[in-house]
Amino acid sequence: MNTVIQPLQEALGNRVKADEPLARYTTFKIGGPADYFYEAKTSDECAAAVAIARKLNLPVFILGGGSNILIGDKGIRGMVIRNLSTHIGIKGVKSALIGEDRKKVVYVEADAGVPVNKLVRFTVDEGLSGLHMHLGLPGSVGGALYMNSKWTRPEGYIGDVVYQARLVTGEGEDIVVPQSYFHFAYDTSVLQSTKDTVISVVFALVAADKDELWKIATESITYRRETQPQGVSSAGCTFRNLSKAEALTLSTPNLTTSAGYLLDHAGLKNESVGDAYISPVHANFIINRGKATAADVVKLIDLCRERVLKRFGVRLAEEIQRVGEF
Ligand SMILES: Cc1cc2nc3c(=O)[nH]c(=O)nc-3n(C[C@H](O)[C@H](O)[C@H](O)COP(=O)(O)OP(=O)(O)OC[C@H]3O[C@@H](n4cnc5c(N)ncnc54)[C@H](O)[C@@H]3O)c2cc1C
Repeated sequence: MNTVIQPLQEALGNRVKADEPLARYTTFKIGGPADYFYEAKTSDECAAAVAIARKLNLPVFILGGGSNILIGDKGIRGMVIRNLSTHIGIKGVKSALIGEDRKKVVYVEADAGVPVNKLVRFTVDEGLSGLHMHLGLPGSVGGALYMNSKWTRPEGYIGDVVYQARLVTGEGEDIVVPQSYFHFAYDTSVLQSTKDTVISVVFALVAADKDELWKIATESITYRRETQPQGVSSAGCTFRNLSKAEALTLSTPNLTTSAGYLLDHAGLKNESVGDAYISPVHANFIINRGKATAADVVKLIDLCRERVLKRFGVRLAEEIQRVGEF
């Protein structure tokens, strides 16, 4: 191990740590150690850390806000780079015909490490529409692109307003790609099948009434508070919702697409394994009561899957990303 920490520290300084416990960097508060761990404070530091890790043939895992992952109890082999880059700024403005109206389109650039909430507040304060419904979404811009994170009231996907992004590819190329590169779909982007690291993103946002945007943003937060468990350690929704076509084919009760509804009606609220339990508020949320392990969560996930399959004939797919060794 020491043979690797030395060149890492020579390149990146003594902020590189070995055997760093990762639970504290996740919203689940679960997970073993990273072999090597580095917090990148700027996008250039992030790109440099990816480059040196690749040069040393270390597997790389980019950690954003840690709000959609379950890290295994044995941790992550190779290098974990926690992206804390912070820059947000306006990159350009143009006038464009949208439908029948001429509107002001503003290009906002954000580092991938920027918390989505900080970016949303910036854009709403600037009177820019497109990200406002995501107020309250935990995590970073990079994680939101990876997952194409979404909100349903009103419906919006992060990918909808991406204009272009700067990436470092698995081969070490530093490139700028357009929105079409990402193949955004429900809970999906191309990043899930490449080794690209997002360094920064440009969003194309349309000028709109600031008060109206704040109203919608505030409604999102209120809805979250009313329907999701608060002040607990979780990774958000455990399972993906179904598509409308799946709900039709499987003939779910009331043709629901909601994984939470199926879990609730399979009697899973309050079920537990060790310190992991299913929220009584929202059945799609698994909560760590304090000392839950990744193994506990996996057992609970298996129990959910089995019960929903038996009761409704539906195979639920996980939304949470499992990372590392279990
Ligand atoms: C209370 C709660 C509420 C939530 N509500 C929602 C919701 O309304 N809608 C929704 O869609 N999700 C929701 N989530 C899930 C989660 O917040 C989102 O998926 C979020 O966008 C993940 O971002 P992150 O930075 O935390 O990613 P992480 O969990 O850190 O990482 C997720 C994946 O993204 C990759 N990644 C991160 N940064 C980069 C980068 N720069 N380049 C390449 N890959 C990268 C990681 O390697 C990992 O594979 C919720 C979670 C919680 C805990």
